[in-house]
Amino acid sequence: MFDFDLFVIGGGSGGVRAARLAAEAGAAVALAEQSRMGGTCVIRGCVPKKLMVNAADFSDHFTDAPGFGWSVGETGFDWQRFRDAKDREILRLEQLYRSNLNRAGVKIFDQRAVLEDAHCVRLADGTRKSAKYVLIATGGFPYRPPVSGIEHAISSDDIFEVEALPERVLIVGGGYIACEFAGILNGMGCSVTQYYRGEQILRGFDLDIRQHVATAMKKRGIDLRLGADLECITKSAGRLAVTDKNGGTEEFDMVLAALGRRPNTEGLGLGTIGVELGPTGEVVVDAYSQSSVPSVFAVGDATDRINLTPVAIREGAAFAETIFNANRTVADHENVATAVFTRPEIGTVGLTEEAAARVTEVAVYRTEFRPLAAVLAGRDESVLMKLIVDCGNRRVLGVHIVGPVAGELIQLAAIAVKMQATKEDFDRTVAVHPTISEELVTMKTPVRITASPRPH
Ligand code: FAD
Ligand code: NDP
Repeated sequence: MFDFDLFVIGGGSGGVRAARLAAEAGAAVALAEQSRMGGTCVIRGCVPKKLMVNAADFSDHFTDAPGFGWSVGETGFDWQRFRDAKDREILRLEQLYRSNLNRAGVKIFDQRAVLEDAHCVRLADGTRKSAKYVLIATGGFPYRPPVSGIEHAISSDDIFEVEALPERVLIVGGGYIACEFAGILNGMGCSVTQYYRGEQILRGFDLDIRQHVATAMKKRGIDLRLGADLECITKSAGRLAVTDKNGGTEEFDMVLAALGRRPNTEGLGLGTIGVELGPTGEVVVDAYSQSSVPSVFAVGDATDRINLTPVAIREGAAFAETIFNANRTVADHENVATAVFTRPEIGTVGLTEEAAARVTEVAVYRTEFRPLAAVLAGRDESVLMKLIVDCGNRRVLGVHIVGPVAGELIQLAAIAVKMQATKEDFDRTVAVHPTISEELVTMKTPVRITASPRPH
């Protein structure tokens, strides 16, 4: 006999969903969380980040308002007032997560847990609990490369809690987090420099989109340096002197390293009980999230598949459905839409032009225009939309948008892509006017037919 049917390690997006659904299906479930309930998304990720995007966006509204006849008096941003309001909301959500688990009957242990064997978990206070199944949902942590002085840099975990905003900040990296925080801190009035080691930010996204966003970020005043990387950081008198690999040295008040994340699996005892781990420590799982040890499953960032909250939730739900409702279910990782909350925002689903052209001949529909509101505001920023269409079966393989509410738009476009809509399905959908999204159904002529990746 086991103490529990399921023991979940980690109270983030994936773990909480799996625990709740398993308990609702009648299982005896325990969950251990070493920090705050809700995990990365709620405490130090999506939610506080989006609130910071919302706060930063006010700077655009103030700038644009005179074009619409408004007089705006003196404006100012009070970081501490915002931070306190944000923290109250995070606390509310954390309590909601906890009460939902309690209501479902999940036994919560507010402490670290590690595996002792295939069915036994040891808690930080030394007690042991046995379970028929163990779910690893421990998420990830910010990666710090071995650069001299990297300990002087903060990570995204720290940025939400800083006492004061920096006057001059250096952001290192060119991925989701670096680009989002470049836009946020720029909108909040900081002077932002961003180093990215490669030729263009946001590797893996559609090249047009990357170039468009990089141009827009620079126009907003972000000093984006491509081909720039950290050599070392030294600290003296509270300021940080940063030397880049090209040999230049500059001073900043704060350095934010956003250089990727790694699965949080070290010290969990996984190796010793025979759970196979991948090159960056990710738990290797099959389509049902089962590890090489049959009683141990893993979901979310700990498995390093697609590291997004809704994916972790789907993986957790599929696991609970498979094991506790006897209904074998896999989480679908195809055509997962995503938004990057840069300013301006990106929404994207499906294949990039480059990836699609590697597998088939594609027609590329592309439009770039200044939205109505930008014209009156005098804002020199355009919207970019692309549809990538398979020339053979006419299916829309990818939709890519940069512009206001691109994250909202892509959620809806993703339904069409998921349903395997063709370009003709888009064409016979009557436009909604006047909107930005009407351009998605009014692009008539491809700008090019491409069968091989365009050179960078
Ligand atoms: P997590 O949410 O990380 O939860 C893991 C939990 O396990 C943590 O609470 C941790 O304390 C706990 N834990 C770890 N080890 C142990 C242990 N041994 N014992 C007990 N507890 C343990 N995704 C989006 O979809 N949209 C976004 O806008 C977005 N923005 C993001 C912004 C930032 C700054 C970051 C860092 C991430 C963002 N993400 C976003 C990604 C998203 O947050 C993650 O993909 C998601 O939270 C992963 O969920 P998870 O359940 O795998 O892990
Ligand atoms: P990303 O993987 O998106 O980006 C990491 C960046 O760091 C890349 O530009 C990479 O460069 C660079 N890099 C990595 N190692 C080094 C190094 N040693 N020296 C210099 N540069 C380096 O990771 P993030 O940390 O930005 O975000 C982690 C994940 O969290 C995302 O991938 C995403 O899954 C999730 N997330 C989702 C968000 C959303 O949905 N809006 C928002 C934030 C995070 P290169 O490209 O050259 O390898």
